Amino acid sequence: MISALTLDIKTDGWTTSRGFIKRQIAMPELDETNNPVDALSVIVKVKYAGMCGSDRGIWTRVAFTEMFAGALAKQNKTLRILGHEFVGEVVAAGSLVESTYYDIHIGSNVSGDSHVTCGKCYQCRLGEEEVCQDQAILGISTDGIYAEYVKIPAKNLWAVDFNRIRPEICALFDPFGNAVHALTKVDVRGARVAIFGAGQIGMFAILLARHFGASKIIAVDVNPANLALAKQLGAHETIQIDPSLAKTNLYDADAGVIKKIQELTYDKGVDVSLEMAGFNSSVNNCIEATRFGGQIILFGIKDGDFTIPHFSRMIVKGFTLHNIIGRQIFKTWQIAQRVLSDKTNGIQDAMWNVIMKQGNGTIIPLSEFSSELVEAKMNEHPKLVFAIQK
Ligand SMILES: [Zn+2]
Ligand SMILES: [Zn+2]
Repeated sequence: MISALTLDIKTDGWTTSRGFIKRQIAMPELDETNNPVDALSVIVKVKYAGMCGSDRGIWTRVAFTEMFAGALAKQNKTLRILGHEFVGEVVAAGSLVESTYYDIHIGSNVSGDSHVTCGKCYQCRLGEEEVCQDQAILGISTDGIYAEYVKIPAKNLWAVDFNRIRPEICALFDPFGNAVHALTKVDVRGARVAIFGAGQIGMFAILLARHFGASKIIAVDVNPANLALAKQLGAHETIQIDPSLAKTNLYDADAGVIKKIQELTYDKGVDVSLEMAGFNSSVNNCIEATRFGGQIILFGIKDGDFTIPHFSRMIVKGFTLHNIIGRQIFKTWQIAQRVLSDKTNGIQDAMWNVIMKQGNGTIIPLSEFSSELVEAKMNEHPKLVFAIQK
């Protein structure tokens, strides 16, 4: 048996529990006789696994409610292994893996995309796998990677080199890739950019907006500690959302924030705004903060209906909306790898020294996992990583 972080929708319940539940589960195995697809799967010994905004949404049960329950019902089971950001080593490979993928074999160090795409649908056949209509997401709609050993389709893996990128940062390829995907969707050269939500992916977005040549980056968040980090990472300006307002104002744009953004952009509004918090008010902040003809990137996800007042402004102001889901497989990964491998741009160092605080308090060994510990660390740090195995 092996240790894993899980949620059993029957015994724990979705609304009657909170957090992740550590359990002993069976060691995964490749069984090509009964499961022919295992010929193209591998067993990965997981070293590090990240905890991101979606995992926090599952921890507090505010996101993926329907997807989570629906997938389990379809698979006729109740237990889900959670987690989707990882780095580890391939310790067993199906009989067709080595002949199908150049760089995936026993001994490869790998990270991998959390979206398991079908390969059959119209979008997959066009090479637009990020919008596969029949995809499963690790740790949400299929079993994830918070376990000592996991079985994963080899096609999801991306070989990594610890000489170029340290293992703890390799575990963050997936969320870093979200930011790369967002910042390569629009041209930010010389642009004024507002980032609503300076959590982990918002922080990666600040680093990348700087790297790709934005002329002014304005970070907006309710948490002053996140804003202090945002400044260290290269945001030119930070604006704090009034915490008392954030609790009561769930829908409307924040007039104080918008006024400051107008001042910082000489009454024009930003060229590009990124919604990275997943709140209704944050979407409306983006709409209010963006100049006529500007671009809005929507990334944050939350269950339920959103309200957009004066919808006609969206058309009248001539915005372009971009919805960022996942990463382009593997185009985004290639860019992410190059950005992180270049030691002269300071991005990998900033992620490790500033966001991850060199591992001080941000890395939790699986053996020490407890709900109380994770809750405490979540409040202290934007990014947590579980050290699963040595
Ligand atoms: Zn994630
Ligand atoms: Zn597909």
